[in-house]
Amino acid sequence: MGSWLRFLLAPFRALSLRMGGAGGGYLCDRCKWDYGDACRRRERPNAKVCPDFKRR
Ligand code: SF4
Repeated sequence: MGSWLRFLLAPFRALSLRMGGAGGGYLCDRCKWDYGDACRRRERPNAKVCPDFKRR
């Protein structure tokens, strides 16, 4: 990728990471319900999308 293109795309990449997109890790790592039996969802501990997600 050319350096100019990388420069132009940088803000979008930063936004994507902040919103938990590619490279942003799993939601469960930042979720209030990720302890003990608090969450029994099948997606745990690797949820990328979850309606019950609540920030710690
Ligand atoms: S509620 Fe969703 S995001 Fe939170 S721990 Fe459970 S599966 Fe993960």
